[in-house]
Amino acid sequence: MSTPRPHIVVMKFGGTSVEDSAAILRTASIVTSRLKKTLSPIVVVSAMSKVTDTLLAAAAAAGRNDREAALKLSDSLRTRHLNAAAELTSGDRLTSLQFNIHNDFDTLDDLLRGISAVGELTSRTSDNVVSFGERLSSVLVSAAFAEHGIASAHVDARTVILTDHHYGKAAPNEPATESALTAQVLPIVDLGKVPVMGGFIGSCDGITTTLGRGGSDYTAAIVGGGLHAGAIEIWTDVDGIMTTDPRIVPEALRVKTISFEEAAELAYFGAKVLHPATILPAVQKNIPVFVLNSRNSGNEGTKITATPPPCASPFKSIAAKKKLTIIDIVASRMLLAHGFLAAVFEIFDKHHCAIDMVSTSEVSISITVDSREALPAICAELSTIADVKYESNKALICLVGEDIRGQAGISGQVFSSISHVNVRMISQGASEINMSFMINEEDVDEAVRSLHKKFFSAPDATIFDVSAAAQTDDRAVTSNA
Ligand code: ADP
Ligand code: ASP
Ligand code: MG
Repeated sequence: MSTPRPHIVVMKFGGTSVEDSAAILRTASIVTSRLKKTLSPIVVVSAMSKVTDTLLAAAAAAGRNDREAALKLSDSLRTRHLNAAAELTSGDRLTSLQFNIHNDFDTLDDLLRGISAVGELTSRTSDNVVSFGERLSSVLVSAAFAEHGIASAHVDARTVILTDHHYGKAAPNEPATESALTAQVLPIVDLGKVPVMGGFIGSCDGITTTLGRGGSDYTAAIVGGGLHAGAIEIWTDVDGIMTTDPRIVPEALRVKTISFEEAAELAYFGAKVLHPATILPAVQKNIPVFVLNSRNSGNEGTKITATPPPCASPFKSIAAKKKLTIIDIVASRMLLAHGFLAAVFEIFDKHHCAIDMVSTSEVSISITVDSREALPAICAELSTIADVKYESNKALICLVGEDIRGQAGISGQVFSSISHVNVRMISQGASEINMSFMINEEDVDEAVRSLHKKFFSAPDATIFDVSAAAQTDDRAVTSNA
């Protein structure tokens, strides 16, 4: 067991928290506030917002031989980074930052030209292209910190996050990563400096890899777990984990505390606020994870811990995951045959396709997945052992709460509040802390709103921040007066 380092706080800033110079300045002042508390921050940053999408679009354009479109997208990103650099730094620091930015974009442009010359984009090359987002943002943020009085040191994440070669969704090699973090990041902390590194990216035998979309949260947890930090802070654009996505229900409430298990279920079932793999490294070392708002840094956010207090409401939050496909596998004679289910699951496993939900009847298995690319290959293989058909544009709604354990009648309440929606598959997870069901994608927002109204109109004030709701009510009363 490694030695706990309670003074270390891993602070991850998402895309919106580094989206422009104003956001990066807010980030600098949040880091300064931790230094003032004599904590030792390690900063993990995402690419500036939308940069990852733009890089993927550039790679795709190059892959279809559209060199001009690819280079145009890259140019727009070059300008955006140079503008931020000029707003955040000056003098020699600006000159060297501009040199680094130009250098990175020249390399990126060569890469895009190469891809368009062959007209083929492999997942390995795609990871290389997309890695530039975090490579650039981390250099920029580190320089901005130095300019604003924070002794910072840039760390190339690819030298410390060591992974397997599963491009696009690489898995970290924990012992190797822990040794690299101890050898390269810890000495910087011990010198009283703030290491700044990109999230999302790593390497395998010197080749760049990525951890999957949203993977910067995972990087923060890998760093926090690897160095046995005292806390991991995920800084984003909402006040914490909310009772549901505030984009669907604007009056969603902040959840003050939530368990590791609940947060993991929520993330897995579509709450974008956390990457699904984030919780595990924290659980292994019992490191609290906080979700905080970089635009409202005084707010206490959500604390994710092993043992939150009990909650009077059955659920803590509702997650929704769209773009899912249901695969129906019918094998009348074989279903009960020894080894059939194993053979089915092995096919999914072979294609690295995670399964969200499974339900079985006497003659069929229905399986839900969120991967589209692997579907044709999976279905082709499945059809050698069964009849297969699939339906896309489905969505999964998942209600999560430890306090549903043993509560009778909850599912009746859930389904009566959405009786107008056609429900396709239902599952109460083996963990007993989630209830999930599948509906058509177009019904999701309406179903989430109905469920939110049903289960969060009288929230337990020890768990949910009811002050925001009270303020909204006050405003409504004042404006009505
Ligand atoms: P970042 O770029 O900081 O990683 P993300 O966009 O990945 O931020 O995640 C934050 C977003 O997650 C929020 O803006 C919100 O719309 C969405 N979200 C979905 N479900 C929830 C939830 N239960 N609580 C809070 N935010 C949620
Ligand atoms: N930049 C990456 C993405 O947009 C990783 C992250 O932001 O977490 O998916
Ligand atoms: Mg994210």
